Amino acid sequence: MRITDVEPILLRGKEAYRATSGEAEAEATDNGDWQMLVRVTTDEGLSGWSDVETLSTAAVAIISGQSMGITGFRTLRDLLVGEDPLDLERLWDKLYVGSAYYGRRGIALHCISAIDNALWSIRAQAAGLPLHKLLGGKRRDRITAYASTLFRETPQAMFEAAKGYAARGFRAVKFGWGVFGEDPGRDVELVAAAREALGPERELLVDPGWYPAGWKGAPRMRSRRENLELCERIAPYRPGWVEDFVHPERFDEYAWVRAHSPVPLAAGEQVSTAWEFERFISEGCVDVVQPDLTRCGGLTVAREVARMAERANIDLVPHSWLTDLLNAYSLHLIAVLPRAKFLEFNVSQSALTRGVCGGAFKLEPDGTVMIPDGPGLGVEVDADFVKAHRVN
Ligand SMILES: [Mg+2]
Repeated sequence: MRITDVEPILLRGKEAYRATSGEAEAEATDNGDWQMLVRVTTDEGLSGWSDVETLSTAAVAIISGQSMGITGFRTLRDLLVGEDPLDLERLWDKLYVGSAYYGRRGIALHCISAIDNALWSIRAQAAGLPLHKLLGGKRRDRITAYASTLFRETPQAMFEAAKGYAARGFRAVKFGWGVFGEDPGRDVELVAAAREALGPERELLVDPGWYPAGWKGAPRMRSRRENLELCERIAPYRPGWVEDFVHPERFDEYAWVRAHSPVPLAAGEQVSTAWEFERFISEGCVDVVQPDLTRCGGLTVAREVARMAERANIDLVPHSWLTDLLNAYSLHLIAVLPRAKFLEFNVSQSALTRGVCGGAFKLEPDGTVMIPDGPGLGVEVDADFVKAHRVN
C-alpha cells in the first residue's frame, strides 16, 4: 500500500471563540471560525482523517506548500507521498527530521500529530480491527465523561450552569479560563458556587489558564507563590485537579507547586514529543498528564507517554477539546490505559467542530461515553458538511 495524498482541508465557520457571560445558559464556544482537518489517502482506497488545533492557514503551507531542497526544510506531503502508510514509526522520524529546521515543536508538530493519527486509522482499517486492538487491547468499554466548559462570570451563573450539567447526567465538570484569574477573591467564589451546585460526590475540575484570557497589552501572570496560593485557596472545595496554570516552559515551578500543593495538579496539553514528556513526567511536574493527541506528536507519542505515566504511577487523561475525531482517538487510547479516569467531553462545540462528525458521541445515562468498537477509528466524517464548509 502507498500513500497517494496528504491533504489539509480548511473549514470556515461563522462563530468565534467566546467565553461565557453572566448568564448560566450562555454556553461558551470553541474555535468556531476556522478548523483544519487532514486526510491521508492511499492507493488501496483507505483514507485516514484527523483534526488539528493550530493556526490552520499556516498549517496548510507546512503540509502542502512548496518544499525547499534540503532535508529539514521539506513540507510534509512531499515527505510522505509514495511511502507505505503502515511504517508508522519510520514515517514519524522522517517527518520530524524532514521538517526539523522550521519544526520540532508548534505548528509542524501539530501537523505531524494529525498525520500520525490518520496513519493509525489507516493501519486499523487495513487490519479490519478497532484501533484499540492495535494499541494493546481494551480494558474497558466505557469511560466517565467530564463536561468541559469555560467559567461563567458570576457565582450565581456558575451555580446554575453546574446544576445544568449535573441534570444532563455528568458526574464531573471542568470550568476553565474566561474571567478566572482577574480577581483572586471572585475566583474562590466561582469555584465555591460550582462545588455547592455539584454536591459532594461529583468531581469538580479547575483550569485557571496560564495567562489571563482577556488581556490587552502586557499579560500579567501569577508568580510561583501566587500559583501555590491559588491551589491553597480553592483546596476547601476539593477540586479533582487544578490544570495548566503555570507557564508551560517552567517545569521546575510545576514540580515546586506540586510538592507543596494540597490539591492534585494536571497539565501536558502544551507539551509535545516523547523527549519533552520524559522530562515533564520524570521531573515530577504533575499528578495527571494530559497529552493532546493533535499536538503532542499523535498516537505514536501518546502511547509512549502512557507507558511513562504508568512507570511514574500518575494518571493520564488526554486533553480533548475539539471535534469528535479527536474524541475518537482519545477514546481508543483511554481504552487501553491500565487506569483511566475520564474522557474530556467538549460541551462548548461550535457548529463547525460539532458538524465534522455530526455529534458522534453521546452521554450515556450513567455519565459515561462508549469506546468505539467498529473497525478503524469507529467514527465517520460527514462528507457533505466538510464540502459545504471547505474554503481551500
Ligand atoms: Mg486546559
